[in-house]
Amino acid sequence: MLLNKICDVRDAVREWKQKEFKVGIVPTMGALHEGHLSLIKKAKETCDKVVVSVFVNPIQFGPAEDYDKYPRTLEKDYELCSKEGVDVVFAPNPEEMYGEGGRLSNDTLTYVCPPFFYVNKLCGKSRVGHFDGVCTVVLKLFNIVQPDFGFFGQKDAQQVIIIKKIVKDLNFPIEIIQCPIVRENSGLALSSRNKYLSENGKQDALALSLILNNIKSCYKKGITDIVALKETAYAFLNEKHELEYLEFVDKNTLEDKLKADDDTLVLIACRVEGVRLIDNTYIGV
Ligand code: AMP
Repeated sequence: MLLNKICDVRDAVREWKQKEFKVGIVPTMGALHEGHLSLIKKAKETCDKVVVSVFVNPIQFGPAEDYDKYPRTLEKDYELCSKEGVDVVFAPNPEEMYGEGGRLSNDTLTYVCPPFFYVNKLCGKSRVGHFDGVCTVVLKLFNIVQPDFGFFGQKDAQQVIIIKKIVKDLNFPIEIIQCPIVRENSGLALSSRNKYLSENGKQDALALSLILNNIKSCYKKGITDIVALKETAYAFLNEKHELEYLEFVDKNTLEDKLKADDDTLVLIACRVEGVRLIDNTYIGV
């Protein structure tokens, strides 16, 4: 079922709750690929009823970002969701979510702002306000759908850690399930933004996963010095790559690591052909 109105989603969920069904939500911005489908499959395994939201959220994009050109493929997304047995695809327009105009300013919308410590690093450093926009829309979706479970990808590792934090801090009775990164055979992490890359760009984009894999094997050989591990990245980078960050943090708290250990999450962001790509890995596993 494809629904655009909040009240219609609430009606569907009310019926499910009366039957004591467990409800799961998979929030997405559409242009669905196998990565999204892995979350949907996990949700279907875990829950009685699954809602997939498809919403390109204007308030999580900066003014110079790709909101207008972000791929929108609702018909195909709906088909894919139907094949997976999704119960409701919720695809509101911006006005339905944010009122007239659909893109309200910070002055007129109540925002959910995660703590500075969590947003003032990694992706939040270059994407100022991004996580405020993400948390605001995700909590709105949680309030609309009232799910028992929320499914998120490790692909956006900082995002899941932040969502877990706000769910805990604000006492939402929702279990957040993190699903592993789905990759192409080449190692490239699937992303809706890969559509912007040329074939050559896709080859250059392999540097991200190669860097992470190499760091992992250096760590397994006993190198724990972060400066030394970071230096190994340069062998994979050339003038086609615009490295934004390569960071080593605690996998649960996002605290910077002084030395790599089994709890270390390594994250990378790099532009290729102007497209901002991210990837990450747990080096201890
Ligand atoms: P997006 O549509 O990019 O907002 O992503 C929606 C959800 O799908 C987020 O929880 C992402 O982390 C997750 N996701 C995106 N790409 C992948 C991937 N390659 N593997 C697993 N999950 C992913």
